[in-house]
Amino acid sequence: MSTPSPTPDAPDVRGAAKEINWGDFRDHLSTADKDGNRKWLHPKKPNGRFYQARTYVSYLLLAIMFIGPFIRINGNPLLLINILDRKFVILGQIFWPQDFIIFATAMLLFFTGILVFTSAFGRLWCGWTCPQTLLMEMVFRKIEYAIDGDAHEQRALANAPWTGRKLFKRAFKHAIFFGLSFVIGNTLLSYILGSEQLFLITTDNPMNHLRGLTFMVLFTLVFYGIFARFREQACTFICPYGRFQSVLLDENTMVVAYDYKRGEKRAHWQRDESPDQRKAAGAGDCIDCRQCVTVCPTGIDIRNGTQMECVNCTACIDACDAVMDKIDLPKGLVRYASLNGIEKGQRLRFTPRMKVYLGILFGLGIALSLLIFNRTDVETTLLRAPGALFQQTPEGRISNLYTMKMFNKTSHDVQVELRLEGFDGTIRVLGQGTAVPAQKLTEGSVLIETELKNLKGPTTPMVVGVYANGKLLNRVKTVFVGPRSNTP
Ligand code: SF4
Ligand code: SF4
Repeated sequence: MSTPSPTPDAPDVRGAAKEINWGDFRDHLSTADKDGNRKWLHPKKPNGRFYQARTYVSYLLLAIMFIGPFIRINGNPLLLINILDRKFVILGQIFWPQDFIIFATAMLLFFTGILVFTSAFGRLWCGWTCPQTLLMEMVFRKIEYAIDGDAHEQRALANAPWTGRKLFKRAFKHAIFFGLSFVIGNTLLSYILGSEQLFLITTDNPMNHLRGLTFMVLFTLVFYGIFARFREQACTFICPYGRFQSVLLDENTMVVAYDYKRGEKRAHWQRDESPDQRKAAGAGDCIDCRQCVTVCPTGIDIRNGTQMECVNCTACIDACDAVMDKIDLPKGLVRYASLNGIEKGQRLRFTPRMKVYLGILFGLGIALSLLIFNRTDVETTLLRAPGALFQQTPEGRISNLYTMKMFNKTSHDVQVELRLEGFDGTIRVLGQGTAVPAQKLTEGSVLIETELKNLKGPTTPMVVGVYANGKLLNRVKTVFVGPRSNTP
């Protein structure tokens, strides 16, 4: 809402606030009117080579997204982010809280990758791969075009009185939207709980799964709210990635951009006007047809330059290319380009900033590879039993008692064998045996015995190897305690 101007009788209470210039795109949102109400967008159906390519890419990615929860690698899901049980599966590999360092490094790698990628290619992710854009533009929007028609028909329907036809169309569309939101919500839930658990929730007694059912309803409502009502506002106001653009982009970043050098000064196309005549009249290639604006799903005018709302969906490129084709001018007035590309004709450059990011990315990549390479299937800790001193047997041998914890990170049972490495003695697991059930923690006691002559002092460092099927899983360091009189 515009701030009231002070009158001679009323003091100026506006402080530093200034009048909103409704003619300046920087002063207001394209999706809000002067009273602050939402302006509902009806973008025109895009068409063109980029839209075609994005359609194919989206089919592939959406198929992976929906099939993902049912894909198994070595019996494990492709991806599982079970925050409740603190269990994570990535590409069939189970990661537990014990693998926090791997997880943290992977996250750092992921975010650094985003930094590098974004500083070079802008919001390519948003336009081509983000699930929000794919589902909104390639699923929900397409259903809307199929039921309500293109932009002008949608506007006419929105302004039409509530007749039986309008009621039917609205009910039909929103029933489909709700059903799809249910599918999307359940897909997300299966990435959190696992598809088996989701199947159990839907087939078992509902009273046994109140928490799961609550999330099911909640997710459905959230997705319905996002795709039926909130739409582009999610990218503008909620997504943190979109908010980071102002610090990640620079003049060398490739974005969807309007070539203002070529396009200005804008002038409407006159019938039978030749390109040379336009040039002679001082007009640029932009014929101010606003086709690039009418297709924009976020309601902005790309000719104003890079804006936070732009999700790089390429619809304006296709729209402008079609116009250029019609008036016989070269395509690419709106295209993928950097500011330096447009102003100075520079190609995409490998800037010092990108080099630093890439260096960090490379270092993190090596660190992650080493961590994964050295990651063990059965994590073992071996600590001397609290309060227990050494024991001496009637034969004169010395024994130490240890507490052992073993955590099996795999999805199959593992039979382990303990061996003393570089230390002459015997090792025996007491009680529960050496079978470690899949994805379980087992605790037990271990007794190590040796001759007095093998000790190097009151405490002797010792290494225990943990093996399964003759293969070394990991080595655990501990100490063996003996009599003080044995000190050399
Ligand atoms: S300005 Fe162009 S690329 Fe950006 S959101 Fe709008 S149509 Fe898509
Ligand atoms: S579609 Fe192209 S020619 Fe038409 S207004 Fe946009 S930039 Fe100008």
